[in-house]
Amino acid sequence: MPIDLAIDFGTSKTVLLCSNKILLEQPTVATVDSETWEPVAFGEKARNMIGRLPEHLESVFPIQRGMIADYDIAEQMLTEYFSTSLGKRLIKPRIIIAMPSGATSIQRRSLENAAEIAGGRRVQVIDSGVAAALGMGIDFSKPGGKMIVDIGAGVTDIATLSAGGIVQCDSAPIGSNDFDEAIIKYVRKEFNVLIGSLTAEEIKKQIGSVVPRGVEVVIKAKGRNLFSGLPQLFEITSSDVYAAMKDTAMAIFSAINGVIERTPPDIVADIMCDKVYVTGGGALINGMGELLEENLNTEIYIRSDAEYSVVKGANAALKYPELIKNIDYQLKNIQDLIVDD
Ligand code: ADP
Ligand code: MG
Repeated sequence: MPIDLAIDFGTSKTVLLCSNKILLEQPTVATVDSETWEPVAFGEKARNMIGRLPEHLESVFPIQRGMIADYDIAEQMLTEYFSTSLGKRLIKPRIIIAMPSGATSIQRRSLENAAEIAGGRRVQVIDSGVAAALGMGIDFSKPGGKMIVDIGAGVTDIATLSAGGIVQCDSAPIGSNDFDEAIIKYVRKEFNVLIGSLTAEEIKKQIGSVVPRGVEVVIKAKGRNLFSGLPQLFEITSSDVYAAMKDTAMAIFSAINGVIERTPPDIVADIMCDKVYVTGGGALINGMGELLEENLNTEIYIRSDAEYSVVKGANAALKYPELIKNIDYQLKNIQDLIVDD
């Protein structure tokens, strides 16, 4: 039987969905031989090796800031992920794959090619903003503004939608991984300790916040002392992490504000009366809703399954290929596509 596959090929995570079932969820990272660039591991296995590799191996992130940065590795990764999740099939799966709205037609074609060579057929690309809206159950078929913000690992995709189409959008090159970078920098400067990216991400998830926390939290983390070169255990507080993260949070807010400024005032008024829908892994950072609510002066809606909105929406759109053929969308039957559970 032919099957349909929806893919979110994100900067940090790849998700494959088939008939509302998650078939695969793996980090978008590979370990490759530094000389030949041949992959030796993909996904979780490769992620566990980040920062712990011998000289002849390297970690490669084929998607950077939402776009293909290493075409060969991206294609080989999709091939691997298709075969582990689908096995050998006579009929290739039909594929829909999400991409930041700021992608050029060349970047779109490159992604379509990679998915086709990896074993897909009739590959289609959908804007992540539109996919996220569908996945969050937002009806934007009628005139009346809706606003979607997808805070991914490397890109924040922002879109205002009305009457079945995108009014304004931006794929701002700032995302949740930038918080990790900011934490690394802060720890180096304040503690003279170098930490790895996985440690920084763990600190962010455990005690990170983009608003000051009411109760101070402290955790222990490990790194390497910059002067002695020796391993060092140090304590870091939630105030430290907030200080490290706040500028990146404001940069995300500014990008959102930029899209609002370019959106016609009547649509902005509709958005203000409704909500701003925030999704992606970055939406799960402590205080993100609060910070945006305060600065945008609007209600913020975050779903607990924020990381899956895009792939769910892409999957819904797959049922209506004729509706997403046109880049301008004009989705006439958006109500039929909306995922609401
Ligand atoms: P992408 O689609 O770009 O791959 P995702 O939307 O999957 O990104 O989000 C991944 C990002 O979200 C990572 O930077 C990750 O550290 C962050 N993230 C995921 N869960 C949480 C959480 N509970 N708290 C804070 N950050 C999180
Ligand atoms: Mg994403």
